This record gives sequence, structure tokens and C-alpha cells, in this order.
Amino acid sequence: MCGIVGYIGHREAYPIVLKGLQRLEYRGYDSAGIALYDGEELKMCKTKGKVADLKNKFEEEVTTNGTVGIGHTRWATHGEPNDVNSHPHYSNSGDLVIIHNGIIENYDSLKKELKKRGYTFKSDTDTEVLVNLIEDVIINEKVKLGKAVQIALNQTIGAYAIAVFNKTKPDEIVVARLGSPLAIGVGEDEFFVASDASPFLEFTNNAIYLEDGEMAVIRRDKDVKVRKIHDDSLVDPYVQELQMNLEQIEKGGYEHFMLKEIHEQPNAISDTYRGRMLVDQGIIRMAGVDDNMERIANAKRIIIVACGTSWHAGLVAEYIFEDIARIPVEVEYASEFRYRNPVISENDVVISISQSGETADTMAAIKLAKEKGAFTFGVCNVVGSSISRETHAGAYTHAGPEIGVASTKAFTTQITVLTLMALKLGKFKGTISHSDFQFHLQELERIPEKVKEALKSDELIQEIAAKYKDAPNCLYLGRGYNFPVALEGALKLKEISYIHAEGYPAAEMKHGPIALIDEQMPVVVIATKKGHYEKVVSNIQEIKSRKGKIIGIVTKGDEEVRDLADYVIEVPETLESLTPLLTTIPLQLLSYHIAVLLGKNVDQPRNLAKSVTVE
Ligand code: GLU
Repeated sequence: MCGIVGYIGHREAYPIVLKGLQRLEYRGYDSAGIALYDGEELKMCKTKGKVADLKNKFEEEVTTNGTVGIGHTRWATHGEPNDVNSHPHYSNSGDLVIIHNGIIENYDSLKKELKKRGYTFKSDTDTEVLVNLIEDVIINEKVKLGKAVQIALNQTIGAYAIAVFNKTKPDEIVVARLGSPLAIGVGEDEFFVASDASPFLEFTNNAIYLEDGEMAVIRRDKDVKVRKIHDDSLVDPYVQELQMNLEQIEKGGYEHFMLKEIHEQPNAISDTYRGRMLVDQGIIRMAGVDDNMERIANAKRIIIVACGTSWHAGLVAEYIFEDIARIPVEVEYASEFRYRNPVISENDVVISISQSGETADTMAAIKLAKEKGAFTFGVCNVVGSSISRETHAGAYTHAGPEIGVASTKAFTTQITVLTLMALKLGKFKGTISHSDFQFHLQELERIPEKVKEALKSDELIQEIAAKYKDAPNCLYLGRGYNFPVALEGALKLKEISYIHAEGYPAAEMKHGPIALIDEQMPVVVIATKKGHYEKVVSNIQEIKSRKGKIIGIVTKGDEEVRDLADYVIEVPETLESLTPLLTTIPLQLLSYHIAVLLGKNVDQPRNLAKSVTVE
């Protein structure tokens, strides 16, 4: 799940590669490293820790520069995060240097073979095995780097995005991908390599996204030759013009990306429905659904596959699809789905949800569903991502880049897109009345303003955060549409503050979790007016009788819960199906402020990475 960057051209490579690594740090931050070729020698610097540590070390130790370089920010899979296991890795001769995102699953048997042939290894990584395998091919088969990479990769099992450089042939970088993302920025007489386009956006808007199973030889001042790894056939590379701009990926005055992204939600939600929802005409346009309407609307069943926060968005969608479009829905963890033997038929529609569109487990689940004949649909944020290309059809969330590791605007925009889809299907099937449909559109159009209003509770939430920040545990309860929101609220708290938190359907309390309640336990209860309000109020009573501390998320103007709770946070009134878009806002802010008060690294929580491109 690492970030990789490379540059070859006429500028100094170091600042470009370093800045690129800073932008890719969301992909991993166990260690970082850079290798540069200064015209005579390969210079390498790597260290455990963040890109900022690398910068200090590099600027102390390395004095030269060069116009070709590669860099890596690591999320360790093989070997602990230390200096030695950091990338780049040299081959035994010291001629080749590699950076790698992914896992070489058969590294152990390859390593044994190479050891027999006299190779030695400094690190515990699978990556160092790969670079030596490539070297071995160059020596034994007397081929150039590109060919050697191809032969070596055909002997590997696993996933990779790699960039390899050979100092005896310093005018080219060889890259390849299978299962991990890789983009090539195409400038004027210069090329960039990166896990996503953010490292090269200020230099070029033209990018080639390698497809799975493709490799490229990038030659300084010349061209990019793309071919298929398994059969050597040449591919005509498609140079795509990118729409992203640099400002979108900077912090914009906020202290953290997470806070910026929380506040971006009003715009992100309207960007999601803009152009799709024509309220006056009572129309929703979604090309991916329009073009496949019969197939999707006649599905016997919808299976949603996702991980983490996206899985919670999937749970919200289950309620919406069943309510509005009357199609049975199952929501599955992609990692479980792919490894059992699920019963899937051609009448099923499998929807995958992934912010990055690169989530390895979700990708594998989609491939499995396709093999079994299902129609696959992708809900992704990153345009051109692997899942968006692998699925039969899809809809982007258009949330803009999400950098904070704890997902926020991706969640609300995923719900928005899935709501549009359910409404569209419901209208087509006649399972929602015209007036109800119209009312939903009007109300969805008001959501961005209502999110803005919900964001105004920030100060109160800071006060609540200060009060409960030292609690060792926390419970989150909700019913109906707000049950998945409770799960998501608990996940946010766990992810960034490391406080143990659990989400439950409020009525499940009495079947176990109520035993945990005492005067130390904060319980966040989502108790909005629409959706089993009276029942939730009874649940609040039960907690109160056991002296639990209650933080109620309530509809504006609520008096009943206010009388019972220690704190209430108000959100504006809306349709029940749209409440998750509002109730989730205070929960995001609560976890954010608790984490900040505890001094945690909000944007880069320990052990996590933004885009989970390994199993
Ligand atoms: N397997 C490599 C390592 O552990 C790369 C890890 C990754 O891409 O997350 O160093």
C-alpha cells in the first residue's frame, strides 16, 4: 500500500520526488526513501519514519542531485518498518534499484533459488527478491532491463506497481503494474511516475494510467513504450487529460486534511448530484444506470461489496434500495465474500463501493462476481481507478481528492450517489410515487445547506470532546437508517483517537452491551425525530437508569432527549432516508476533536493507510 514516485527529464529530480512523496504519504508512512543518479553514481537515502525525516536525513547526507530519481513511502507488508527494509532496494551488484507497491507472494521460493545461486539479502522484503531476480535474468539471459523485468515478473505471483532503474543505462526507467495503481505523467521531454497523479499535477495534466498486466519503458527525451507483460504485445498508450487541480489537494487553511474534508461536504454532496439531478424536470440522469436500466432494475438481488467506511455506506444503501426500489439487498465485507463460495447468478447485480477504487479485496470480489456472470457496478471517487475500469458500469462520487486517512466526504457522497441510484430505479419500477420521488429530489437539494448548519455545532462538539476525551470506551447507538451511522461514528473514533468504541443497533443493547454501562461510559445515541424516535427514547431511558453518560444527536428543537441527555447536538430535520447525511457530521467532528485534544496524528493515524491496495 505504498506510494511510489519517479522522475526522468531535465529538472533536478530530488525536489520533485520529495514533494511527490509528501503528497502520497496517505498511502503509507512507515518509512521513506529516495535514490538519485547524479551522472556517475547512484545515491540513496532511506529511513524509518515520515517523509519529513527523510528530508532531514537526505539534506544532511546527500550533496549531489540528478535528473533521474525514484522514491517510496512505505506501508510495510514484509519485514518490520526499519531503515533496512525501507525502499528503494539495490540488487547485489548495486547496478539496479527498485521501488515497489504490493506483495510478491512467491518471494520465499524465489529467494531460496536465488540464494542457491549466491545472492545475498540485506532486508526481509519481498521487493529485494524481485530486484535480484531481475538482475539474475539480465546476467543469465543477456537481455536489457525492460526484457528482464518482463521475464522476472512472469515468474512472480502477487501484486505490484514497480519502478526500476539501472545505473549502467541511466536514460530509462522501467515500470509495471498488476493489482497496484501506476500513472505516468507525460511532460515536455520529461516523464513522471507515481501511484496517483498528485505528484506531477503542477508539471503536466497528461497522464497514462497503466492497465493491470502492462509495463512501460520510459526513455528520457523520447517516448513511453507500453506492452503486455505476459505476451509482449505492444499497447498504444492512451494519454488522458486530467481535470484535477493542485489547490484541490492542498489543506486550504485548515489544520488537517480531515477537517478540511469534513467542511467540504456541502460542496462535495452538491458536486455529486450536480448535472445528474434535474429537480424541475423530475429527472435523474446517471449514464451508468441509464445504459443498463433493464439489467439493474430487474435484478433479483443486489449484493453490495465494500470494506471499512464504504461498507457502512453500503449498509445505508441497503435500507434505501429496499425502501425505495424494493430490490432485496445483501451487504458483504469484500474480504469475506471473495474467499467463500458465494452463490451468485446472472440475475444478480454486484455493487462495489471504494473511495480509491483500488481496494484490493473489493477488486477481487468484483472479479469473482464477474466470473460468475453477475452484472457489476462500481461506486468510486478516483476517476480512472482500477475498480471503475473493471466494472461493467458505475457512477463516480465526484467528492474531489480525499487525503485524510479517516474517510469523511467519501462516505456522504457515496450515500448521495446510491440514493440517486435507488430513486432512479424506484421511479423506473414504479415503487415510488411521483410526488414522493419529487419530494426526495427537493430535499436532497437542500442537504448541502443543512450540512452547513450541522457544521455550526463545532464549538459545542469541542466542549463535549474535552469532557469525554479520556474515556477508555464509548458506545454508539442508532436504529434503522442511523444504525450504520452509529457503526461509522464508532469506527471514526477508533481510527483516529485509538479509543475503543462500538456501534450497535439501539435495541440490541439489552442483549449484551447494556452490561458495559456505568457512570464512566459515554453513549452517543442518534435519536432523530424520524425513524423509531419513541423507541430510541426508551433506550436512552435504559442507559440513564444505569448512569451512562448520554450524548444525543437530535432533530433541531427536540426537547424530550434534551431533558434526559448530558449533551445534545442538533441537526436539521429531513427525510428519514437522508438523515445519515446529517447525523454523521457531528460524529465526524467529535472524533476529530477528541483525537486533536489527545495529540494524535489525525491525518495519518498509526497502522492505517488511505488506500488499501494489499489484501
Ligand atoms: N511488500 C513491500 C514491502 O513490504 C511493499 C509493501 C506495500 O506495497 O505495501 O516492503
